[in-house]
Amino acid sequence: MTDPLDRAMHHARAWLDGLDTAPVGGRATADALRDALGGPLPETGADAGEIIDALAAGAGPGLHANAGGRFFAWVMAGSLPSAVAADWLVSAWDQNSGMFTVAPSTTIIEEITGGWLKDLFGLPPECSFAFTTGCQLAHVTALAVARHAVLEQAGWDVGRDGLYGAPPIRVLTSANRHNTLDAAVRYLGMGEAHMEGVATGEFGNMLAEDLAEKLSGPARPTILCLNAADLNVGTFDDFATLVPIAKAAGAWVHVDGAFGLFARTSPAYRALTEGIDLADSWATDGHKWLNVPYDCGMAFVRDAAAHHAAIAKGAAYLSPSPDVRDPSDWNFELSRRARAVPVYAALRELGRAGVADLVERCCRHCVSLVSGLGALPGARALNVPVLNQGLVRFERAGATDTENDAFTDEVIRRTNATGEAFFSGTTWNGVRAMRVSVVSWRTDQHDVSRSIAAVAGVLSEAET
Ligand SMILES: *Cc1c(COP(=O)(O)O)cnc(C)c1O
Repeated sequence: MTDPLDRAMHHARAWLDGLDTAPVGGRATADALRDALGGPLPETGADAGEIIDALAAGAGPGLHANAGGRFFAWVMAGSLPSAVAADWLVSAWDQNSGMFTVAPSTTIIEEITGGWLKDLFGLPPECSFAFTTGCQLAHVTALAVARHAVLEQAGWDVGRDGLYGAPPIRVLTSANRHNTLDAAVRYLGMGEAHMEGVATGEFGNMLAEDLAEKLSGPARPTILCLNAADLNVGTFDDFATLVPIAKAAGAWVHVDGAFGLFARTSPAYRALTEGIDLADSWATDGHKWLNVPYDCGMAFVRDAAAHHAAIAKGAAYLSPSPDVRDPSDWNFELSRRARAVPVYAALRELGRAGVADLVERCCRHCVSLVSGLGALPGARALNVPVLNQGLVRFERAGATDTENDAFTDEVIRRTNATGEAFFSGTTWNGVRAMRVSVVSWRTDQHDVSRSIAAVAGVLSEAET
């Protein structure tokens, strides 16, 4: 018999210790993974420790090393040491963290952590909050409250009467939005057909004149969604101008700050978020820039009473605790994981100064990567990163745009195949580009040089 916890510790350490030398991208095909991990449902049990060994061996070839310093795809990172360790404790403690009576310690840790996050992000102290699985569910949570509030303002009780016969809710967004907003609108029965685009400028920033124009008609239930950094180039909407226009028209303002809300934690980048605290709700992620394990997102709502009215469960048998915040009153879930505990650990490991330093380091490395890659022969940076997101395109002399689109995808694919670094692609302003997203506490200058060298190698090979 082998102790499964000891085996898990061994494999976790081996994985983390190997990050610098292992290929950054997982290489196993779906079929290879099915062969290694699948087979019929076992008829009888097996030794727990041996199962952990087999799991690590089977899954290993299909793991992406996003926990390492050279993974720049999507917006993904690894986790701080204290956050990984705290997450292990969460599983071992196994507290059902929906209510104080059921999970006293983890409920209080969540209460403390929510307060720290409001302070860290400079959000209004009266805000309520929810720890969700990610930014997607943070959007759903915040927009469920928004739906409740704008309909209440129109004299409609959505909790009692549902959406049957309710006045339609208009959702104003820009083309630059993340598609999780569309999903949230769909899930909440507000209908994609009721989403309306506001015009944007060169970097995808929402234009105030068009917003004012769209809001100039008779008042009707409206939710405006703004970006605290879009995914491609990190553009922030001009909150200080746009939010007052929307508020004057009675609209609810929601901010997608999946990673961009973290700009607020650094004196060097805080100006990008000016006026963001005027909004009504904010969604962000813990598993992106705070470097805590999946899954973890957060929603914040200025009107705590509306949040409670829209979400609280209030079943008598649950006997809510009068002077304690029960997480289930602010979240969709009842039984749930103590998701705030790794966040608590990460905030204690870093402190306010450490979070700011993490944000600033990532932004600096993003600028070096984008300028270093952009200076390679055959490469062109499409932006100077304002935050931690950049775009680089690869072009051959005399080639058409379509050929260069294919060449760009080819460079990404070949770079990833080297195992030295890992990037994803995107379409921005109609052309293909390599995305450079830096959100890991592990990324350092050496990782940046090594990744630029990997792309340089791919480009010189492509020349011959
Ligand atoms: C990642 C991301 C989301 C979705 O977040 P999940 O945590 O994956 O649900 C939404 N908006 C933006 C801008 C993002 O970068």
